Amino acid sequence: MLRASAIRKSFGGQEVLRGVELDVAEGEVVCLIGASGSGKSTLLRCLNLLEEVDDGDIFLDDREITDPRVDADEVRRSIGIVFQAYNLFPHLSVLANITLGPVRALGVPRAEARTEALTLLDRVGLAEKADAYPDALSGGQQQRVALARAIAMRPRVLLLDEITSALDPMLVGEVLDVIRGLRADGMTIVMATHEMTFAREVSDRVVFLADGAIEESGPPEQIFTAPSSPRTAEFLARHL
Ligand code: ADP
Ligand code: MG
Repeated sequence: MLRASAIRKSFGGQEVLRGVELDVAEGEVVCLIGASGSGKSTLLRCLNLLEEVDDGDIFLDDREITDPRVDADEVRRSIGIVFQAYNLFPHLSVLANITLGPVRALGVPRAEARTEALTLLDRVGLAEKADAYPDALSGGQQQRVALARAIAMRPRVLLLDEITSALDPMLVGEVLDVIRGLRADGMTIVMATHEMTFAREVSDRVVFLADGAIEESGPPEQIFTAPSSPRTAEFLARHL
């Protein structure tokens, strides 16, 4: 459903993605792991067309989205992304944060967007926070709202970039619970994470990036118990 073929990306003289191949099937959960600076965020940003690739192609449902004739804004509406922090509009209520995109970008009638947002808030366990403002919420609650807001756009794929890494350890679990729920509902997810235990539990496939290239990829059981690359083994020894 989402496929990156031989993508390359440099910043200045530094090549950050060196021919990355990624193939994500519908309903699959893929976890990207790798050291800081290995290119996880850049890869996610390229998949969402927030960064322009220097070379290679990206396909969504067999349509080449890296084709210059493609409307990048339209593509971004069907590929949701949630970042580590600062996801919500601080001047809007939780409800307004969630309904803004569907109303403005998708043309969903306001009443319908509101009903849907309340359902989503219930799903992330925050039904009672609809009228609260982001600064009145904990970091974990804010990330759950950010997930609800991304889902409200009815994306084909959800990209998550270390969405628990800025959180107090106490609050990580509630966000991971929401991701478990999304997986159970069949959402296609590509997530960069340093939560190795969670990656092992939730992913269908783990992709280990090293210096902008995929060093190894496979089912979590294989990657975590019998990695074939010494580099993967060394990374896991330091991060498990
Ligand atoms: P990760 O998410 O795995 O930590 P990143 O994709 O953020 O890795 O970064 C990979 C490399 O690309 C790093 O060396 C980083 O400094 C560099 N980089 C990322 N974004 C930019 C940018 N906008 N300008 C210059 N260098 C960048
Ligand atoms: Mg990153």
